[in-house]
Amino acid sequence: MSIKTTDERFIAHTYKRFDIAIAAGEGSICYDDNGKRYIDMTSGIGVNAFGYADPVWAEAVTNQAKLLQHTSNLYYTAPCAELAEILCTRTGMSKVFFSNSGAEANECAVKVARKYASEHKGAEYYNIITLNKSFHGRTLTTLAATGQAAFHEKFTPLTEGFLYAEPNDIEGLRKLVAEHKVAGILIETVQGEGGVNALSPEYVKAVEAVCKENDIIFMVDEVQTGNGRTGKLYSYMHFGVQPDVVSTAKGLAAGLPMGATLMSEKVADVLSYGDHGSTFGGNPVCAAAAISVLNRMDEAFLAEITEKGKYIKERLTAAGFEVSGLGLMIGIKTKKPVSEVLAACIENGVLCLSAKEKLRLLPPLNIPMDLLKEAVDKIIEALG
Ligand SMILES: *Cc1c(COP(=O)(O)O)cnc(C)c1O
Repeated sequence: MSIKTTDERFIAHTYKRFDIAIAAGEGSICYDDNGKRYIDMTSGIGVNAFGYADPVWAEAVTNQAKLLQHTSNLYYTAPCAELAEILCTRTGMSKVFFSNSGAEANECAVKVARKYASEHKGAEYYNIITLNKSFHGRTLTTLAATGQAAFHEKFTPLTEGFLYAEPNDIEGLRKLVAEHKVAGILIETVQGEGGVNALSPEYVKAVEAVCKENDIIFMVDEVQTGNGRTGKLYSYMHFGVQPDVVSTAKGLAAGLPMGATLMSEKVADVLSYGDHGSTFGGNPVCAAAAISVLNRMDEAFLAEITEKGKYIKERLTAAGFEVSGLGLMIGIKTKKPVSEVLAACIENGVLCLSAKEKLRLLPPLNIPMDLLKEAVDKIIEALG
């Protein structure tokens, strides 16, 4: 049987796959099982920060795999401790909880906000405000957090206590906070799945202010925007704010499953023994991968991400397209249906993503300029 037939026979049909079986990759290039070459502008949805089979990443992973792959969280391991220290040092946060995915990182964030509120304001302060068009994950709690009714249908009842505010509407947010007992506010500074919509800087600042005034936990979902994607290590750093909780995953271990929830001094000790756990959380191989990722993301590297993002924006704007996003997280308003553009990109040997009605680009953060130029040429052709 072909890969496609076997897959469709035995794997639950939750993913509408493109008609491509990716067989191998190197850096920003991958090959399908017929040997066709593609420039990858997806990074496996913002995961492969250094592209496919990056040698530095692969060495960090294989060295750790040969030494110690897993111990359970009953014991200390060096990679886990070292990674937590790096994350805290580079963000000013105080403590980290490790998990395996974005949804889990957000679950932990919600638990932190609720426990803090329960201890400081009362158990009835359990509400979490998120934004319309947000995306926070697929578990029943993170689906509830996701402000898109279409994802909720047929899975109700979801976790209770989620309220939705309109992005960039400060007055609306203040009204919700005044009318409900709120534990936390969770935002993406640039909504990824929702259509690569960046929040206005005034709004992000206002969310922080509303949280401070009302002793509400200010949480930023950096699952997609984090780990260099927007040209800062974490996207909140563009906005001059300091969240109480930051969740991240996708690019953190550049292709291995790892989630992290970062907690500021204010909430550092909210979770105590027995409050939360994850069998695989902080896995040494994933942690070793993440250490190698973060150690390469210095200021010069982040500046290159910003430059490459500018290059893409300038080329597409000059070609007459409206572009949104930050750094190497880019949305493009298409003139023909995005599905047609994606198909034309595949024809041209470029893999791209969509986000709602937009074309979305999340290339490897280290994509070389010559490949980026080739990809943009082909994308502009496909956009028509
Ligand atoms: C992808 C994503 C998630 C969910 O991450 P998973 O690893 O699929 O659970 C949550 N939040 C944002 C902003 C995302 O982009």
